[in-house]
Amino acid sequence: MFPNILEKDSYSYEDFSSLVNGYLVERVSELDMQSWIKYIFKRGMSTEESACYTKSIIDTGTRFDFSSLSAPIVDKHSTGGIGDKVSLVLGPLLAAYGYYVPMIVGTSLGHTGGTLDKLCSIPGYQPYLSIEKFKKNVNKVGISIMGQTQDICPGDKKIYELRDRMNMIDSYPLICGSIMSKKIAEGIDTLVLDIKIGNGAFMHTLDMAKNLGKLLKKIGELNNIKVKVAITDMNQPLGNYSGVACEIIESMEALQGNGPEDLMDVVYYLAEQIISMNEINTNHQKLEDLINSGEAYQKFIDMVEAHGGSIEKFNQIYSQNQNFKYTLFADRDGYVKSFQTKRIGEILSSIGAGRLNNTDGIDNHSSLKTFKKISNKVSKGEPILEYCCASEEKINNLRVLSDELFKISESECPRQELIYQ
Ligand code: URA
Repeated sequence: MFPNILEKDSYSYEDFSSLVNGYLVERVSELDMQSWIKYIFKRGMSTEESACYTKSIIDTGTRFDFSSLSAPIVDKHSTGGIGDKVSLVLGPLLAAYGYYVPMIVGTSLGHTGGTLDKLCSIPGYQPYLSIEKFKKNVNKVGISIMGQTQDICPGDKKIYELRDRMNMIDSYPLICGSIMSKKIAEGIDTLVLDIKIGNGAFMHTLDMAKNLGKLLKKIGELNNIKVKVAITDMNQPLGNYSGVACEIIESMEALQGNGPEDLMDVVYYLAEQIISMNEINTNHQKLEDLINSGEAYQKFIDMVEAHGGSIEKFNQIYSQNQNFKYTLFADRDGYVKSFQTKRIGEILSSIGAGRLNNTDGIDNHSSLKTFKKISNKVSKGEPILEYCCASEEKINNLRVLSDELFKISESECPRQELIYQ
């Protein structure tokens, strides 16, 4: 074992730094790192240790410096869900508002989709940029969205990959170090965290979400970042479409004023949280105007072009729908009571929207349409969910599913709360 790291009563920045850097250059073996991860899983970390651990990860890469820019440098992070395309709408909206948005995003994780995979369905979109090009895009367009490169917290990239393989993601200090290192490295001054709870989220209870939120906020503030924690619902897919290219289409619709109500409620709420940390008054009408005037949409187009992508080619590919479909219908009259959201996401991943195994490829055509939301009235024979993808075999595999993916009750059901905090 790397010198007595397990026996430590408390860890300093230097301890974490030699562990993380040692693992990066293979001075610390994978086996030792696994033992340490298991140990931290049980032991946890103090807040001070979490702060030192986070800093040790940031210091394995570059920390962007946007301090010469004259407007707030902002970002949002979501803990992930089904149909969660909020970043694709919120980012351009904040850029149109005049803020700068350097956004580092991830690929699909477990049963949840990844913003980067969705952007990669746009022909030509370069998901990984050099530091110089990323900074240039942020300066010029106001927003750039890319994936984590070797320049940004490489320590996190390697440890995260190991945690994922060990199926040991769920440790608050390790999640915190992983998320906050990337956010701090972005050089932002304001962050809103969207912690999802519900049967399609990684966090199931309000208490779990609040505890994680408290730790993330504390670490952000110790690094001079203003942080607000929002807690929002993931007991049903967000918006009407979940998947890959279909989420880009829904986001572009939303940026042109035709977004589904639940998606827009979350987008406006998070935008207002960000603005409230920088200005005395938040102006909801101004946000709506930026959407209705097309300015927010134009930011999205400018960003895609700055990344080498072509919306024209994207529209050509996805305007014809020649995919295979599997539709689930209501088997009685009544009201939608609940969804098995995690299972719905796993099935979506299995037809190409995510990677249940590291080797799985993404099918840009894979999608899920959610026709009804919790509390909606339905008649027998109406469609509730519809899966779609480019593989006939994968769709045929779904036909033998015995899972009950939604429940219908005879009596009226309340609407699902969307924003808890
Ligand atoms: N997202 C991250 O970036 N890291 C984690 O550990 C969990 C979610």
